Amino acid sequence: MRIVGWIGLAVVILVSAVGVGQTSAGSAPLPDLNRFDASVVNHNLDPCVDFYKFVCSNWQAANPIPADQVTWGTTSNLLLWNETVLRNTMEDAAKPSPGRTTVPQKIGDYWAACMDEAGIEKTGLAPLQPELDQIRQMKNKSDIAGVLAQVHMKMPGSWERGSNQTLAPILGFSSTIDYDNAQLTVARVDQGGFAMNGRDFYLSDNAHLAEVRGKYAEYVQTVFTLAGESEAKAKADAATVLRIETAMAKAAMDSVSRRDPRKVNNVMNLQQVQALTPSFRWKDYLVAVSSPTPQHYIVSAPDFFKALETLLQGESLDNWKAYLSYWVIDRNARYLGKAFQEAYFDFWFKTMLGQKEDVPRWRRCVRWANRDLGEALGQAYVAKAFPPESKARAAKMIDSIQVAMGQDIQQVDWMAPGTKQKGQEKLHAVMDKVGYPDHWRDYSSVTIVRDGLVANVQSAAVFEYERQLNKIGKPVDRKEWGMTPPTINAYENPQNNTINFPAGILQPPFFDPATDDAVNYGAIGMVMGHELTHGFDDQGRKFDAQGNLKDWWTEQDAKAYEQRGECISDEYTGEVAELGVKTNGLLTQGEDTADNGGLRLAYMALEQSMREQGKSLDEKGADGLTGKQRFFVAHAYAWCRNLRPEVARVQITTDPHSLPQFRVNKVESNMPEFWQAFACKQGQPMVRTNACRVW
Ligand SMILES: [Zn+2]
Repeated sequence: MRIVGWIGLAVVILVSAVGVGQTSAGSAPLPDLNRFDASVVNHNLDPCVDFYKFVCSNWQAANPIPADQVTWGTTSNLLLWNETVLRNTMEDAAKPSPGRTTVPQKIGDYWAACMDEAGIEKTGLAPLQPELDQIRQMKNKSDIAGVLAQVHMKMPGSWERGSNQTLAPILGFSSTIDYDNAQLTVARVDQGGFAMNGRDFYLSDNAHLAEVRGKYAEYVQTVFTLAGESEAKAKADAATVLRIETAMAKAAMDSVSRRDPRKVNNVMNLQQVQALTPSFRWKDYLVAVSSPTPQHYIVSAPDFFKALETLLQGESLDNWKAYLSYWVIDRNARYLGKAFQEAYFDFWFKTMLGQKEDVPRWRRCVRWANRDLGEALGQAYVAKAFPPESKARAAKMIDSIQVAMGQDIQQVDWMAPGTKQKGQEKLHAVMDKVGYPDHWRDYSSVTIVRDGLVANVQSAAVFEYERQLNKIGKPVDRKEWGMTPPTINAYENPQNNTINFPAGILQPPFFDPATDDAVNYGAIGMVMGHELTHGFDDQGRKFDAQGNLKDWWTEQDAKAYEQRGECISDEYTGEVAELGVKTNGLLTQGEDTADNGGLRLAYMALEQSMREQGKSLDEKGADGLTGKQRFFVAHAYAWCRNLRPEVARVQITTDPHSLPQFRVNKVESNMPEFWQAFACKQGQPMVRTNACRVW
């Protein structure tokens, strides 16, 4: 499943918190969560000048980024909390007990193998040797397709990359929902082949990005040296990898174009796919991965595959061997011994993101297990962290926000009645998913051993790869989840018209069963509104109620929409002087639109809820804030965050989500309800003239 509209806390996955102390098995103490706290507000500042600073500056000053973090925010303790729950679960499951059932065996032995650093050190590169031998033994370039298939199947997380390309060598192959018939699963052929996220890291003249590029070349060389190559050969091979990856980045479709579903919906049969890249033996690849025959293939970027032909012809077999070997080692380096781990950390975390130290081993193990066995681990998380009352209250909030969206669609003055009707149909067809799946994924075919981390990771990768391919030709399962239960994130999927909120984000500071509606609507209500709005952002609006890519807009309404969208993309485009990079409002337009609509919908739903309860939002509470003010402060509070400049640059360059300060100030400054709540005056920075509003 390709997730296109999420809330954008994914960057948090890369970070963590100060380590908890060493404790006995299964009982690591849970950290305190950051619950909403109005006393952090800096009343020396004017909320109408810089609202993000007004809410967050005290918190930011008191919470510097720990050395093993790249960002540090009010949600960071929640991540540590979630991961500690998983750690305790895994430690318990790892205790030898004769009657262990499938789930404890898988997660317990995964844990034991992952924490066995001495054993991992001893085996060196041996776990990857069979794959490396396969690559080395290729006789001519026609062997590449078959070997690539083996490499893809065993590569962890190759389906993971968001908007830029599949994170896998040469190309990406998976299943996808058909754009024209959302009931059908077909095959997807995607651009891939370059490891740094985003073409700009290969192609841009920007000094910061060029510096990262230089360090990347050094890293690739180090990988070859660690694998036993001489310095001269390692240097030459690194140059080869860089040359091939740069050529692929150049040929790749840019990430703004990839946001347009019409541009990536290129329907082809196998002959047509083959004709794009005659030198790549697709039949060998498809046989090797046991792909079911799809009704057709969707090729996201045909030009990439034409360029790939030139590259396959131009580079020697030895060069392709070097390139593929690098990918196998790099993508597995974290699961190998110390020297590989350190080299990997040094580039991908220190240089790329600015992280000073690695997170403790246990947190890495928890994250990999969450990726590889997420719905097995997630069961224990739900039992511990997500009671039925939380699920019921969250579901009720989502309902109220959907009601608000229905009113909003009726109220806007730029849509014709017929288009509004279609919008309402789409809204009523949205499926809400809250917390966790109805049925847990069965991992019994994944082999997990107690003494082989790489083997475990690869077994889980093969399982996932095959699971994805097995969907081809089958009906779409709208109830499937694309995120695991402990994930602090949420998403909308326009092709099956669902909005999804894992239990991991339905926790403080986003959702707190112990606090009032004003706070919950400002924090998690905005997230709910955000996901709902995605179905009606510049991408989502191109899909109909059934999830088909189908234009249901009149020409005039579409034009009116685009004008409003342009207001948003202009608002978010500009130099960020302190970082030396420029934001691209066309890359972030969908997310910014979802933020803009999301906060408004949450506010409308809050007002309605207050009316029903006979309460006023104008009354001051014990913290000195009115209900309206609490709503906006709670929204900002959930986004308070310190970021290292490196990670902020990566985000601006590659991520469709804007930086936290923009996700607060640029949204609030468009809302008359905000101006009124804080008595802001025309001319002040938080009062935007010609305010942008789509929904
Ligand atoms: Zn989003």
